[in-house]
Amino acid sequence: MNYSIAIDGPAGAGKSTIAKLIARRIGFIYVDTGAMYRAIALYFLRKGIDGHDVAAVAAECPNIHVALSYDEEGKQQVILNDENVTPYIRAEEVGRMASVTAAIPEVRAALLELQRDMARTSDVLMDGRDIGTHVLPDASLKIYLTASSAVRARRRYDELRMKGEDCSLEQIEKDIIERDRQDMSREIAPLKQAEDAILVDSSHMTIDEVADAVIAEFEKIK
Ligand code: C5P
Repeated sequence: MNYSIAIDGPAGAGKSTIAKLIARRIGFIYVDTGAMYRAIALYFLRKGIDGHDVAAVAAECPNIHVALSYDEEGKQQVILNDENVTPYIRAEEVGRMASVTAAIPEVRAALLELQRDMARTSDVLMDGRDIGTHVLPDASLKIYLTASSAVRARRRYDELRMKGEDCSLEQIEKDIIERDRQDMSREIAPLKQAEDAILVDSSHMTIDEVADAVIAEFEKIK
């Protein structure tokens, strides 16, 4: 039997940083499902398709194939129709589009089996919005990782400033609140804490403290 750890939570809670760290420490494969939704969003942005045009998005889904691979260092690579799009999916614009198109059932259906298959064949640590509630309802451990919107905005702001990008803290917090609203209010697989998930609020915790807390929970059920 494989172990699976689901980490869900809102944008900017630090899921991917923490998930990567934990996966390395316990030797699990890290699956960043947000990257898959971002690859699909990139497809629509490149094609100039309006993400709110549900019929157009649904009609295009059969032409989209997303796959994951891992490089020599074990870093996840996202392949969109045979092209490695990993370098292009982190832009804010792509994240915003991902949140719009992820609300469309055909988009979610295109990724669900791929995500489940990965958990069937390997020990995975999967992060996203609906992993504990939908993708892996029987996950060995479920974590709901959150932080206040002010803290999440500040972290993203610092990250962008480090990269030399000009940005406004106020605008970033607005975007984060809007993304939360969109992800929590959609009809299909909305972001919410699974009943059996452990809530971790990282507002006043360091990355290492969060990783230690999650690993301690895993040790209990292992
Ligand atoms: O986590 P990340 O910011 O990369 O995700 C981008 C968007 O993809 C999210 O705002 C969300 O709308 C969508 N997503 C989702 N379900 C997941 C992972 C991401 O709907 N499991």
